[in-house]
Amino acid sequence: MQVIVCGVRGSTPAPGPEYVRYGGNTSCIALAKRSKRPKLVLDGGTGLRNLTQVLDGSPFRGTILLSHLHWDHTHGLPFFSAGDRPDARVRLLMPAQGGKPEELMARFMSPPHFPVRMNELRGDWRVGELEEGVHGIEEFQVTAVEIPHKGGRTFGFRVSDGVSTLAYLSDHHPIQLGPGPDGHGEYHEAAYALCEGVDLMVHDAQYTVAEFASRSEFGHSTIDYAVGLAEVCAAKRLLLFHHDPGRTDEELNRIVDGLGSGIEVEAATEGRVLDLGGAPA
Ligand SMILES: [Zn+2]
Ligand SMILES: [Zn+2]
Repeated sequence: MQVIVCGVRGSTPAPGPEYVRYGGNTSCIALAKRSKRPKLVLDGGTGLRNLTQVLDGSPFRGTILLSHLHWDHTHGLPFFSAGDRPDARVRLLMPAQGGKPEELMARFMSPPHFPVRMNELRGDWRVGELEEGVHGIEEFQVTAVEIPHKGGRTFGFRVSDGVSTLAYLSDHHPIQLGPGPDGHGEYHEAAYALCEGVDLMVHDAQYTVAEFASRSEFGHSTIDYAVGLAEVCAAKRLLLFHHDPGRTDEELNRIVDGLGSGIEVEAATEGRVLDLGGAPA
């Protein structure tokens, strides 16, 4: 599986010279079988715009899975040129949460909030909902499990292409379930189910422990929690994700340099492609 990192920020985009190394676009990861075009996308933050360049003139034909409906996971959708053309075919799936998926999308994507409606995008767009459980989506096996966050039902995903496996928990608020052994949140059953033994774990790393003291109710995790969870789940590699919009390149460099973990840890960087292995299909 190839993991194409298209957007790395949480909450809101972060443009500016302090953010050029890791990137300022919000959450979006594209997955491809090796040497094939990406067909499965996790979240549609502003980083989704970068996928049009990756597709290099081709239309997008695949599925976008939304972990939840917050702005930083949806605001790239109307600006995704490779999906907004007559020959595109896009299936957009969100966690089932009561309420029709089309109507939930229309709440943010219709006048007066935005000039273009979902059904005005060109191409064949189908909007639907996803239940918890195991699904076959675009040649991947996707396990969707609800995880604690704030303000709307949120799923974490475990995705396998039969060779390698990735866990994606972009927005995770484990302190809701208790302090856990380190005071940063519980290592709970859903987190284990998603992350155990994965080749790559992509996880919410919005706050430092010092910041968490005043922001523990904001719906996110600490960097230390992400590292701790990767260790207890024996993940092979950890990608710190959903960087706080105020987190500068310099701070991220310092954070990564200061981590002492047996696991390979890096901070998610826009434009990076990680190869998790697997023969060309
Ligand atoms: Zn988010
Ligand atoms: Zn969120």
